[in-house]
Amino acid sequence: MMEKNILDKLKNQLELSKKETEKELERFAQKSTDNDWQTRYPNNPGEGLEEEADEVEEYENLLPVEYALETKLKDIGLALEKMEKGTYGMCENCDKEILLDRLKIFPEARTCNECNKKIAP
Ligand SMILES: [Zn+2]
Repeated sequence: MMEKNILDKLKNQLELSKKETEKELERFAQKSTDNDWQTRYPNNPGEGLEEEADEVEEYENLLPVEYALETKLKDIGLALEKMEKGTYGMCENCDKEILLDRLKIFPEARTCNECNKKIAP
């Protein structure tokens, strides 16, 4: 079981990270539902074809960024939920405790170091 002051610190970190990630997304995307964001499609009428092609490219470049940020937000939400339930800090894959060193850097981690290596090398 994790000490309360450590847990509180990680919670603050998660909440801060959530705000930053949302701010980041707001720059180019729009919140559609609770956890879903849509990249705004640039649509400026009266522009030439060349500008439009640039905008399409920009949009396509933003999609993976949107996806990564959205995934991060979901993981943060999950981590906060687990804190409520008291299951925070356990690996979703092997049920072992995730090392605190890992959580300090990556508080929304869902798996331990070992499982993370196996899942995403
Ligand atoms: Zn594990």
